[in-house]
Amino acid sequence: MNTTAEESTIVDTHEFGFATRSVHAGARPDPTTGARATPIFQTSSYVFEDPESAAAYFNLQEYGNTYSRIMNPTVAALEERLANLEGGIGSVAFASGLAAQSSALFTLLQPGDHIVASAALYGGTVTQLKHLSRKLSFGIDFVDPDDLDAWGRAATPETKLFFGETIGNPSGNILDIESIARIAHAAECPLLVDNTFATPYLCRPIEWGADIVVHSTTKFIGGHGTSIGGAVVDSGDFDWSNGRFPVVADASPAYHGLAFHDTFGSYGYLMKLRTETLRDLGAAMSPFNAFLFLQGVETLPLRMDRHVDNAYRVAEWLKTRGDVSRVRHPALNANYRELVQKYLPKGAGAVFCFDLKGGREAGQAMIRKVQLFSHLANVGDAKSLIIHPASTTHRQLSDSELEAAGIGPGTIRLSIGIEDANDLIWDLQQAMSQ
Ligand SMILES: *Cc1c(COP(=O)(O)O)cnc(C)c1O
Repeated sequence: MNTTAEESTIVDTHEFGFATRSVHAGARPDPTTGARATPIFQTSSYVFEDPESAAAYFNLQEYGNTYSRIMNPTVAALEERLANLEGGIGSVAFASGLAAQSSALFTLLQPGDHIVASAALYGGTVTQLKHLSRKLSFGIDFVDPDDLDAWGRAATPETKLFFGETIGNPSGNILDIESIARIAHAAECPLLVDNTFATPYLCRPIEWGADIVVHSTTKFIGGHGTSIGGAVVDSGDFDWSNGRFPVVADASPAYHGLAFHDTFGSYGYLMKLRTETLRDLGAAMSPFNAFLFLQGVETLPLRMDRHVDNAYRVAEWLKTRGDVSRVRHPALNANYRELVQKYLPKGAGAVFCFDLKGGREAGQAMIRKVQLFSHLANVGDAKSLIIHPASTTHRQLSDSELEAAGIGPGTIRLSIGIEDANDLIWDLQQAMSQ
């Protein structure tokens, strides 16, 4: 495009808004074919021009496509878009949210290390952290996420990571990201935030001091319940050469002595995450799934506004019901009012729990009668979803163990979709009538 110097200055200084970046960041028409949509580069490998350039790629002296376990152009478009939306310097996509988390941890932890994690995490994450900590010999302390002093008290000289969720499960705790980032940094540790429930449209943890953001793109990023995927986004701000992270900063035996932090500066952690952890553990996102996530993320801002609005209407309606003892939507919880205003001014997400006075029996009866809500174990779909944790995901627990996990026998979890709010309320009402 021909532009005068003046015009190009305007282009250079223009900052695109979130909705524009949701559609365009990381992708442009394919230079070879002119294809406007990002093509699915369904290829395992890439032809090298000559032996020298192949060697340079394998030495990490030049950055280029070698093999789709490590990088792929369709996946790269998604990675760049997610990094852009979160305000990070880059990201690496994975086959699932849990693969993203385990890879993020694997890259920076060594046996004997320790992490401090919120006790109000997604159930699959709690199981993963407990299991990995035994397998890989790192220590873990779970703390009440609302108790700031507890985060600091739990840190030991071995602590290498603080871990929380923007919006926690099942009570809808809102993480005080800025304060916890300050505590983590005082302990010379990065703060990792799982931003799955909020999405970068509602909250960008990096702007509040988080160092690493992880996503299950399976949920709102994709939005249609069609694919499993995950991503790690790096702020690029954490100083891995502070002497406490030799695993990132020192010469790597897996890359004939390459020192990732020295060589790649702020990209050291991401490069290690991709070229060692993704290479070795191999949980790569498929190009087809990346394509579906790219379709989904284009409408993220539109969908999230609708999810949030619908969820709020359903929660307000539930509050008027005599057979409901408690509605645990963060926007209706006075304890979180300031945190919601600060971190989630556009809304506190669309996943929340409420409690039926009738306990386990009432919960099961309701699940049997819903027509529009789908009874399944997922969240963040365009379709509204419902589950009764006491008879499914937390079935093995006794009533007292349920209580400790913040789940009552009559607790119902909803993930509110983008249908008409009146229809959702109609469905819940008919399902609750005995
Ligand atoms: C679903 C979910 C995960 C795990 O992601 P998968 O894609 O299912 O592996 C992690 N954290 C949160 C908050 C989730 O909702």
